[in-house]
Amino acid sequence: MNVGNKRILVVGLGKSGLSVLRWLATQGARATVSEIKTASELDPGVLHEAKELGVIFETGGHQTKTFLSADEIIVSPGVPREIAPLMAAREKGVPVLGEMEVACRLTDTPIVAVTGTNGKSTVTAFLGSVLERAGLNVFVGGNIGTPFIDYATSGKKADYAVIEVSSFQLDTMESFHPRVAVLLNISSDHLDRYTAYSHYVASKLSIFQNLIPGDWAVLNDDDPALRGRMPDKGAKILRYGRERKKHRHAFLEREKIKAFIPGGEITEVALEKWALPGQHNRENLMAAVLASLALRIKPSVIQQAADTFRGLPHRQEFVGRIGEVTFYDDSKATNVDAACRSVAAYHGPLILIAGGRDKGGDYSPLAPAAQGKVRKAVLLGESRFLMARAFQGVVPYSMAADMQDAVNQAFSCAMPKDAVLLAPACSSFDMFTDYKHRGRVFKEAVERLRDGRG
Ligand code: ADP
Repeated sequence: MNVGNKRILVVGLGKSGLSVLRWLATQGARATVSEIKTASELDPGVLHEAKELGVIFETGGHQTKTFLSADEIIVSPGVPREIAPLMAAREKGVPVLGEMEVACRLTDTPIVAVTGTNGKSTVTAFLGSVLERAGLNVFVGGNIGTPFIDYATSGKKADYAVIEVSSFQLDTMESFHPRVAVLLNISSDHLDRYTAYSHYVASKLSIFQNLIPGDWAVLNDDDPALRGRMPDKGAKILRYGRERKKHRHAFLEREKIKAFIPGGEITEVALEKWALPGQHNRENLMAAVLASLALRIKPSVIQQAADTFRGLPHRQEFVGRIGEVTFYDDSKATNVDAACRSVAAYHGPLILIAGGRDKGGDYSPLAPAAQGKVRKAVLLGESRFLMARAFQGVVPYSMAADMQDAVNQAFSCAMPKDAVLLAPACSSFDMFTDYKHRGRVFKEAVERLRDGRG
């Protein structure tokens, strides 16, 4: 990809935007960055580095003329593809690429890509650990951790790149071609950014669009949105689901995952030491087992990885105990399905802390998921009244002013052996910088309460 001396506009100055700017600087491109936030709202370190790189700045909003005068536009994953200046640029014929599309044009490392509404980071991290354990040299990143562009421009040559891909990243892909593509599930999320749910589904399915014979597609057969889907590009399709069925390549049987690839023997992965709670994490493991088998990883290596993987922070993370009450941080449950699955993963009784920035989803599935298990819901953030409507008459609830108040209220109504679960079903941006910040504040609030400072 030749960008030398071209006018390249980078939209969004976050982590991946900065990585793109670093690369552009090495290529002699004339880079401009357009960012919706004002300079004072940006991370000072990022701003400083971008300035050092000699980039032209446009902050506090996007100017259409900047977009129209670019030779090419590279968008960061956080930027909605339908914003007016991008649409205008596309209409004029200015190529608009995502950071990940640029990255995959710059490397020939075989890609294992993971997408889905929920479970991407968990499966990406776990698959990375499987491949590393197999002695392979692996890059693990993308939408989680290190942007793919950092790897692609580093000159390193890993055996595989295991990358998490969001729907926003898929939306700006053209030639993205994974060797193994995993689609975990589709449920409503980000409806604030898609004009229709069908667009979101189409976006997720586009992970399969460039597969060729010899590639692998791994699909969740229990998911109504994916059952029967045929990525018909000649790729081999591997389906998994809870129950054994004729067309499934992985299923659960007597505390084991059984999995095979066509023509191969059945591999068994015992679940005794698999530490991640809930049915959804068993589904995640099935997906990862199939992807691993497609890559010819030995079953013993998969088993060792499953026995030792401890999950990621802020995903049903054990925080601690006060007396006989246990606290779990699932701040990453930023949509309704993730929160429902999280609640389902515990035997109960639970005190659920939920609420945050509304993303246009429907909270009604939370009530049946919580019924009979959630002793009380403590609601917080912008969406608390909408959520209260869903719980009305089904689960008792109260409103909290902030996280400390929520934790205090949760503890005061918990009985011995109850668990307090933070699973917000919403994004965090109403009160926090991101889900990690929200999780940290939750943990600090638990600590303060434990020390009698709550
Ligand atoms: P993502 O990267 O897709 O956001 P994570 O692995 O970070 O996925 O998990 C996000 C949230 O979704 C967590 O609350 C987690 O408990 C929940 N989750 C994980 N896997 C699944 C799944 N297969 N189905 C539904 N929810 C899931």
